[in-house]
Amino acid sequence: MLQQVDLGHKSIEIYEPVIGTEKIDELRSIASKLKKLRLLYINSTPFGGGVAELLSAYLPLLRNLGIQADWRIIYGNSHFFSITKMFHNGLQGAKIKLTEGIKERYLGNIMENAKQLDLGEYDVVVINDPQPAALVAFSKMKAKWIWRAHIDMASPDLQIWQFLKPFIEQYSTAIFTMKEFIPKDLAIRTAIIPPAIDISNTKNMDLPPHLPRAIMLNSGVKVGHPVLLQVSRFDVFKDPYGVIETYRLVKKHLPKVQLVLVGTMAHDDPEAWQMYGQINQEAVSDPDMYVYTNQTSTGSLEVNAFQRGSDVVIHKSLKEGFGLVVSESLWKAKPVVAGRAGGIKLQMKEKLEDLLIDSTEEAAEKVVYLLKNPQMMHEYGDLGKKRVEQYFLMPRFIKEELQLISEIAGV
Ligand code: UDP
Repeated sequence: MLQQVDLGHKSIEIYEPVIGTEKIDELRSIASKLKKLRLLYINSTPFGGGVAELLSAYLPLLRNLGIQADWRIIYGNSHFFSITKMFHNGLQGAKIKLTEGIKERYLGNIMENAKQLDLGEYDVVVINDPQPAALVAFSKMKAKWIWRAHIDMASPDLQIWQFLKPFIEQYSTAIFTMKEFIPKDLAIRTAIIPPAIDISNTKNMDLPPHLPRAIMLNSGVKVGHPVLLQVSRFDVFKDPYGVIETYRLVKKHLPKVQLVLVGTMAHDDPEAWQMYGQINQEAVSDPDMYVYTNQTSTGSLEVNAFQRGSDVVIHKSLKEGFGLVVSESLWKAKPVVAGRAGGIKLQMKEKLEDLLIDSTEEAAEKVVYLLKNPQMMHEYGDLGKKRVEQYFLMPRFIKEELQLISEIAGV
């Protein structure tokens, strides 16, 4: 059987003070109808990136609601994952070159994974993202199959889309984050469910007030000087080079500003290692620039601390499926200057749109404005927190997922 990810324990009750008893009871009632179903969620990595973050919060909460839910991951070597990273980039619109050899390599590995999958029994299988997408065609499991896309597929590279489309169309339903992300010619039922964050995990839990600054100080950041932060995978669509350029522009106005880049290195993202090396080179020659990763012990607690302790969060994505980090930072009442891309637009509506940007110059201008106007930093931060509380917390996500599963499974 495919490797199972340990889910730990969570309690839905933690949300009671935030959303009220009625909404918790409603969730329990929806969940009670699904108790006989066995659900399986599959993706390609247990850590690193938004999908792993989402599943590690969502699945323990489902179990707490009495639902039988497991999380398993597909296996593959770095060659396989460099192929699937290429698929990921291609589906987001990058030009790629797909050869017969690449297709064979991908399908060969998926067939091996499908054999392992068939050793278990589930009623509903939810496959996340392109890496395991073709499993549906090779597994013999009699289940309802759902495909969950976390990326913007509005204008995919045609070669990759023509290759994957026949597999994706074998699913009963495909879930997207936004209507705009659905490829025009996808001929199966679709549903829209935006992701959400969990306020109880180490990444988002409240911290004692002294801790963020203490952790930052411990990492070498100069406390008392302004801090600009981006937390993201080292990925071309997250535009880390644009962030560095933005920081250099800000520095012309505010010479003491510091830049902290925090990135995870996940095993399903070999491209990140190369980019990390290049970015690190930039940091070596700049005493106000810091690059941290999970390889240097910067985990969820540190990310939480950096998000709380920094002055302005930047998320300069050029393409973005959702961008959990945006909600994570807004939840901590931080102003976020972010690329006008995909799911970020969903999170930063109304007044928060003021902080959406289309260029490094614009990003630098907004950051300088905020750093020079602390009152505005607080105002945007407070607005952001309210927006996340209303739309982007786990209970809303659980409700929408369970309602859809209930419909698809006919219970
Ligand atoms: N993340 C992290 N450490 C890092 C970089 C990212 O824990 O060094 C987390 C981040 O806090 C967020 C997730 O990884 O929870 C990234 O999800 P997002 O939706 O922002 O982007 P994705 O990586 O899925 O494109």
